[in-house]
Amino acid sequence: MQASNLDTPLVYLKGVGPKRAELLQKELGMASYKDLLYHYPFRYIDRTRFYQIRELDPEMPLVQVVGKILSKEVIGEKHKKRLVAKFADETGAIMELVWFQSIKWVEDHVMRGSTYIAFGKPTFFNGSFSISHPELENYPRPPGLTGNLTLQPIYSSTEKLKKNFLDSKGLQKLIQHVIELHINEVRETMPAYVLEKYKLISRKEALVHIHFPANQAKLQQAERRLKFEELFFIQLQLLYNKQVRSLKFKGLLFDTVGERVNTFYKEMLPFDLTNAQKRVIKEIRIDTQKGSQMNRLVQGDVGSGKTVVALISMLLANDNGYQACMMAPTEILARQHYESLVSLLKGELVNISILTGTTTKKQRTVLHQQLENGEIDILVGTHALIEDKVKFKNLGLVVIDEQHRFGVEQRAKLWRKNTIPPHILVMTATPIPRTLAMTLYGDLDVSVIDELPAGRKPIETRHLLEGQRLRMFGFMKQEIAKGRQVYVVYPLIKESEKLDLMHLEAGIEQFRFEFPLPNYQISIVHGQMPNADKEFEMRQFIEGKTQIMVATTVIEVGVNVPNASVMIIENAERFGLSQLHQLRGRVGRGAEQSYCILMSSNKLSENSKLRLNTMVKTNNGFEISEIDLQLRGPGDITGTQQSGVLELKVANLAKDQIILQEARNTVIEIFERDPMVNLPENSLLKTYLDRKNQGIAFDKIS
Ligand code: ADP
Ligand code: MG
Repeated sequence: MQASNLDTPLVYLKGVGPKRAELLQKELGMASYKDLLYHYPFRYIDRTRFYQIRELDPEMPLVQVVGKILSKEVIGEKHKKRLVAKFADETGAIMELVWFQSIKWVEDHVMRGSTYIAFGKPTFFNGSFSISHPELENYPRPPGLTGNLTLQPIYSSTEKLKKNFLDSKGLQKLIQHVIELHINEVRETMPAYVLEKYKLISRKEALVHIHFPANQAKLQQAERRLKFEELFFIQLQLLYNKQVRSLKFKGLLFDTVGERVNTFYKEMLPFDLTNAQKRVIKEIRIDTQKGSQMNRLVQGDVGSGKTVVALISMLLANDNGYQACMMAPTEILARQHYESLVSLLKGELVNISILTGTTTKKQRTVLHQQLENGEIDILVGTHALIEDKVKFKNLGLVVIDEQHRFGVEQRAKLWRKNTIPPHILVMTATPIPRTLAMTLYGDLDVSVIDELPAGRKPIETRHLLEGQRLRMFGFMKQEIAKGRQVYVVYPLIKESEKLDLMHLEAGIEQFRFEFPLPNYQISIVHGQMPNADKEFEMRQFIEGKTQIMVATTVIEVGVNVPNASVMIIENAERFGLSQLHQLRGRVGRGAEQSYCILMSSNKLSENSKLRLNTMVKTNNGFEISEIDLQLRGPGDITGTQQSGVLELKVANLAKDQIILQEARNTVIEIFERDPMVNLPENSLLKTYLDRKNQGIAFDKIS
């Protein structure tokens, strides 16, 4: 596409000039007219809504109050000088309007006894409300003066820009110039038939109304159109990549279910698979017979039985003459996987080995050899598996446990371990809300194990306040007397590390006092300890030599101690919902009834109460993740690692589920009809994908 006037540098825009252009670049990263046009308001003030003074609340953003000026008085000296006006609404309630600057002008122009609309941010001080530097308008508004804008857009700006009169209003003026002069150059990005089907307004109209909404309905249409577009193009890219991958790469064929799978299934499996497990295995069977590479994400709550699904898939690879590997994020987890696989297989059927950071050089030499000549069928390990030195004879399947620790880069590295890329099965115990899964893993196929093995007793969760601590100690003693083990977890958060460590130490003291030797043994594990000590302490607990493990969140991921049946979470109000759920998942892994006790202080915010109540009410990880998404927003949930993927401008994955689903369905239909996007009606999409694949950013394209 040729450059348009919208690419003109900002310095040429009326009202900008070199100094402001430089500031806009520095402060908001804006270079061209387009950048201004795409700087959407983050909020709108309803200019038809008036508040009475008694309705005000210091939390409110910007408000309008109609009132009469009762008095004006200049108080203070020199730089503390200010003009304070008493301002009364129709009920007689009084607030203050305050000016620190332009005092002379206000004295001359703001009239005692006149009625005005005061607009600004209310603050509460010394028992009364005030607005400093309010915008004043005559009341009633003379017709036409404020235009017919009932919704005033508010733009984000910075202190430096504000000093140069580029506050929200200033930016609005510039954007208005761009729209007046160049709006007709805005090009449509989506095919007409999509706009029609989903009743979307044109891109041009949407841009006008996102900045200058004629009314609430127009604003909603504009938002819907821009959100749809944003989500649509993300899905287009994701699903296109998936499509290309499946057309470009041949996939290994696992078309026989052979002796290993059969023997394991018929003779060794100690339980019946749940329906959910069967369904996922079937999905994997279908994937691996299609002749294209499988990229499947299996989501399943802790304890849903992902390991056995992984094992059967790996045996399937073995039966078809391929090796398989399984990668875990930590040494301990890799070892646990290794041990549970060996025990499920009773040491028979296949050769299984482990490779981690602590594998000695000598062992490695042997391992490398055995991998290359195909003696090893299944290799379990940590990141050490990805190293280039590790070569397989014919790797057919890679299982990655706990996806959120592995990046896309690492996934790609694994692919290259075979000339035809191995099938990839990613397993995560962190339930992700549907919208996030569709966006973060939209290029993977997703399976869900949404059923726990039969007979599993749901974990009972209680919320206790600090004053009930003795009850908690009593309960711990009772469970330990039955032979159970107990986790006690403390928060350790970077921002408050010192204080947290103090709490942890005080807590440890208290536990040592309540649970003295020799009757009780306590393991202590926290991030500050040397790794070897950590491992030692964990081992002690895993082997049942200690009854209590006091820890910070290092135990969050994957440790499996079936005999531990009580999880105590201290300062539970400081954890996020998903984290609480993950922690709780450490118990309930054995036959015994398990418990989770959430300890918190008496004073709780509404948000904390909601989180703790949710934990008490439900054990369902998906339900919890949805609530978490509503409470915290998408960025926090996925963590910093992946947040880049989710830098959405208008859409919100917590709120726009329906639009996302529509956008995704649209894209799926397009690829069904036009797999390589060659139809003339999809030419805009073709251009987009071509450009995108040349690394050109979206807003430089449209
Ligand atoms: P996760 O999904 O958290 O990785 P695991 O695979 O570790 O879960 O399984 C948890 C426990 O449940 C293990 O002890 C496993 O042997 C057992 N298990 C798995 N599937 C079933 C089943 N269908 N019936 C009974 N127990 C099962
Ligand atoms: Mg697991």
